[in-house]
Amino acid sequence: MDAQVSFLDQLFNQGILHDSGVDGLYARSGVFEDVISKFEAFALTFGQDEISEAMVFPPGMPMTDFETSGYMKNFPQLAGTVHAFCGNDHDHMGLIQCIAEGKDWTDKQKATDVALTPAACYPLYPILAKRGPLTADGAYVALQSYCFRHEPSRDPARMQMFRQREYVRVGSPEQAMDFRETWKQRGQEMMKILQLPHEVEVANDPFFGRAGRMMGVSQREQELKFELVVPVNSTAKPTACMSFNYHMDNFGKAWNIKQADGSPAHTACVGFGLERIALALFRHHGFDVETWPEGVRKALWG
Ligand code: AMP
Ligand code: ZN
Repeated sequence: MDAQVSFLDQLFNQGILHDSGVDGLYARSGVFEDVISKFEAFALTFGQDEISEAMVFPPGMPMTDFETSGYMKNFPQLAGTVHAFCGNDHDHMGLIQCIAEGKDWTDKQKATDVALTPAACYPLYPILAKRGPLTADGAYVALQSYCFRHEPSRDPARMQMFRQREYVRVGSPEQAMDFRETWKQRGQEMMKILQLPHEVEVANDPFFGRAGRMMGVSQREQELKFELVVPVNSTAKPTACMSFNYHMDNFGKAWNIKQADGSPAHTACVGFGLERIALALFRHHGFDVETWPEGVRKALWG
């Protein structure tokens, strides 16, 4: 049994996570959730005065906005959309019969106007766009969302449904870049306090296909994405627990978000993978939170 499987099994055995039978889809224990909520409160003590607004999103977003994001162009392999039965009595009979016969019944559903949110900041941009041009201060939003990515895995740090806490900066190129540099420093400061070994490195998103590989190379060359990685599994390479992204004016253009002078807004976001950070804490400090190092306990529980 490799160490990756054993860490997942240990989490199940310790009752930290509960198996559902589907890889990457787990029930969280009270202890696990407590660590996440304490981490979120800890994270919010950084840059508190800079935040102009807070939002929490449901795990689904409007299909039209999902389309605008270009997700199906870049990451079709990870996307999920919501389908529902929309038929009449006759169709229902067919559906039930299909299920009873053990046949595939899912084609009897139709796509709804909801897509599963793939990245926590996507639902924010259309909301900002609707408000009209930004003021000179731009926007600085703290948000949280469940996200879905179709990447089933036995690596407990690669879930299909997980939460991201993000800070998003929208405004001028300088505002977006300054924000990202500040958060790269803060992210490392946070990990030092939590006594987690970490490194920040240039990264790229998993763009689909051959053309996608080129996009990944270009993203790296332009240093648009950085990740803070922590060893979570002893065999696998360190896991990205935070990301620091600069999207230039791509989202400003896609959603028509304007700066005060009418030009497309630039955006940057820092994302904390909440489950991954909790897993890193359990991995490095043990399954019993009572025995975690005093400094870590103080940062999280006060
Ligand atoms: P990304 O949008 O890929 O940069 O993801 C933002 C953050 O979400 C990452 O830094 C991770 O901490 C977390 N994350 C990404 N994918 C997963 C996943 N499959 N399971 C758990 N956390 C994830
Ligand atoms: Zn984001």
